[in-house]
Amino acid sequence: MLELTSLKELLADPKQIVITTHHKPDGDAIGSSLGLYNCLIQKGHHVKVVSPTDYPVFLQWLPNNPEVIIYTEKPEESAKYVAEADLIFCLDFNSLARINGLGQHVQESKGKKVLIDHHLEPEDFDDYRYWSINACATAQLVYEFIVNVLEEPQTINKDVATCLYTGIMTDSGSFRFPTTTPRVHHIIADLIERGAENAKIHQLVYDNFSENRLRFLGFCLLRKLEVFTEYNTALITVSRDELHKFNISTGDTEGLVNYALTINGIRLAALIIERADQVKLSLRSTGDFPANEICKKYFNGGGHRNAAGGQSTESLQETIQRFKQILPEYKSLLIQ
Ligand code: 5GP
Ligand code: MN
Repeated sequence: MLELTSLKELLADPKQIVITTHHKPDGDAIGSSLGLYNCLIQKGHHVKVVSPTDYPVFLQWLPNNPEVIIYTEKPEESAKYVAEADLIFCLDFNSLARINGLGQHVQESKGKKVLIDHHLEPEDFDDYRYWSINACATAQLVYEFIVNVLEEPQTINKDVATCLYTGIMTDSGSFRFPTTTPRVHHIIADLIERGAENAKIHQLVYDNFSENRLRFLGFCLLRKLEVFTEYNTALITVSRDELHKFNISTGDTEGLVNYALTINGIRLAALIIERADQVKLSLRSTGDFPANEICKKYFNGGGHRNAAGGQSTESLQETIQRFKQILPEYKSLLIQ
């Protein structure tokens, strides 16, 4: 791993830079990427944000969002920028598998890779690393990177502050997860002072649903929620037909799993969704329960202890069965 001081020296002159993040980007992925983008363009760098896939409408209002290139929509242009980059910032992911087909282009590029991330056990594909699992969001690390590594706090203007605020807000569950330390609140205060409009951002992200989306939520809670009291576990399952019936699009299922965790006593919440090509799982847990362990061991996935995901190539019904069969193995941890 190279020293971050040499990265600062590299960034002293204008460079060709690509910023990329994980597929199906969430608020932290896009917020941290556009936050860094809006910082670096002020120093004369040529910067492109390349996202592996598209992302929800409720994230498409962020400053300079139109500058983001979607790899699946423009694969050749994306690959060209990656190949020609001097530096590639890899934000909010720990393995090239998380950026789909873009991963191979990043690996093959001569550009130096800079990982900024807060996921467990990053794979060894980077040249520079700014990483901490204690950060509540990658956007927090981007803030620290701008202040402590680049030493350019004055570049945190209203646009940067808005993006980083969005990343921290979404990844910290609106400042309520245990990773929301006093330091996070200090950073948030600074971002508001620098122009982030907290009430407006909250509204743009959380009060921006379609009518369909709200009715779909009601349907899932009334008809598709199963509670296994014996295991302090709640499960929501959604089939492809149901997604179709409610005209559900990217991002509409975001946050659904959290509702299952609001039931008194529930330690593990799961959402199993039948997507076009595979069955996707989202797990959330409270306290020490390792949701990521289940995802890693049984569903070819991973993540954080309290928020993890994975997938299955089996049918929806088989995946649901498998999930239920796993519960006894974790019973002692679940009933603590
Ligand atoms: P979500 O349930 O929102 O899709 O994902 C929650 C977290 O789990 C993500 O922030 C990510 O860290 C992790 N995650 C989700 N899906 C996968 C996956 O397929 N593989 C790995 N390694 N982590 C995942
Ligand atoms: Mn994140």
